[in-house]
Amino acid sequence: MHVEDLAISDIAKRIPTPFYCYSSAAIASNYKRYSDAFSGLDSLICYAVKANSNQAILATLAQLGAGADTVSEGEIRRALAAGIAPEKIVFAGVGKSEQEIQYALEQGILQFNVESEPELERISRLAEQSNTTARISIRVNPDVEAKTHAKITTGKAENKFGINIDLAPALYAKAASLPGIEVTGVDVHIGSQLVDLEPFSHAFAKVAQLVRDLKDQGILISVIDIGGGLGINYGEQSSEPDIVAYAEHAQTHLAELGCKIIIEPGRSMVGNAGVLVTKVEYVKVGQVRTFVILDAAMNDLIRPSMYDAYHHIATVEQKQATATYDIVGPVCETGDTFAKNREIGECAEGDLIAIMGAGAYGAVMASHYNSRLNAPEVLVKGQEYSIIRERIDFDALLSMDSLPNWL
Ligand SMILES: *Cc1c(COP(=O)(O)O)cnc(C)c1O
Repeated sequence: MHVEDLAISDIAKRIPTPFYCYSSAAIASNYKRYSDAFSGLDSLICYAVKANSNQAILATLAQLGAGADTVSEGEIRRALAAGIAPEKIVFAGVGKSEQEIQYALEQGILQFNVESEPELERISRLAEQSNTTARISIRVNPDVEAKTHAKITTGKAENKFGINIDLAPALYAKAASLPGIEVTGVDVHIGSQLVDLEPFSHAFAKVAQLVRDLKDQGILISVIDIGGGLGINYGEQSSEPDIVAYAEHAQTHLAELGCKIIIEPGRSMVGNAGVLVTKVEYVKVGQVRTFVILDAAMNDLIRPSMYDAYHHIATVEQKQATATYDIVGPVCETGDTFAKNREIGECAEGDLIAIMGAGAYGAVMASHYNSRLNAPEVLVKGQEYSIIRERIDFDALLSMDSLPNWL
């Protein structure tokens, strides 16, 4: 098994498992799929930093021309440090603090995606205090069923995100009257890991109607941010959404409005560009099941435990025979399970295993739970690789804590 021109087994001779391994070429190819598909529209691809915020990944995308969709000051700082211009940075999220808004205003970012009325008021006040105006889009909630996992659907009326689309005209009227606010856009993001394009189409149609209604109201919209959310093929589905067809839906509903289109793909930009490389510690034959116990755990990749996510898992070396296992990590929780009843190549102690589709929502969601060291991240380009995040050592881990003076 290779990542670009490098055998994973060769990388694993130099870097102890577990580690994440990403392909630059796969990221570039994903970026190109979007930029080609949207070339007919005035568009900006703002990569959703939260999917994988390593600065080397951000710099790779920055060189390709990407902007950034961010949800915290930390992400804005990462994007800027990686060479993404402030004019290409959008700032989303339901809980923007005063400090974060202040910082974003100072940097002169492209726009704030506003999620509530009190946030709008706060941004206006802070902008006014700094003698500036904030460009804003209001994130509308179109109340469409995204048909994805409950923890990552965001566009239903009961979700915490955005403003009910029916209430948006009133909030736009208010926004237009606030001194610190410059209304520029409308924003919608209905969820993540969508495999069906129909919900997008519904959402785009509703947004288009809103833009027309706002125009009648005297409010001109120049930017439509259509969010992210396209799914990837994790190995159990036979298909993944077609980006060309997705862009065609955007074209159909939005092109006539003459707006700049912002796209915020995260998972579909990096998800299939990464694997988690891990090693078999033990093959444990239980009474009912046989367990493969890996050296990677839920603290490295939490998606299976948190979202019941399916990841394709394979032995790095091809095997003659297969066997069926529960594939688990060493953490002291039953939830630390990557797959149940999974047929893969027959495993022996020391075998390398690749957990596929780990480029998005993998390393970024990792923790040191069970006082485990982080899995380092490695980026491959052609025949080269580089460690883009080191594994910290135990001294560094322990020095994160400090004792109060009474102990
Ligand atoms: C998470 C998120 C994205 C990216 O979602 P993906 O499913 O990774 O493409 C885009 N926009 C917003 C506002 C988000 O919260």
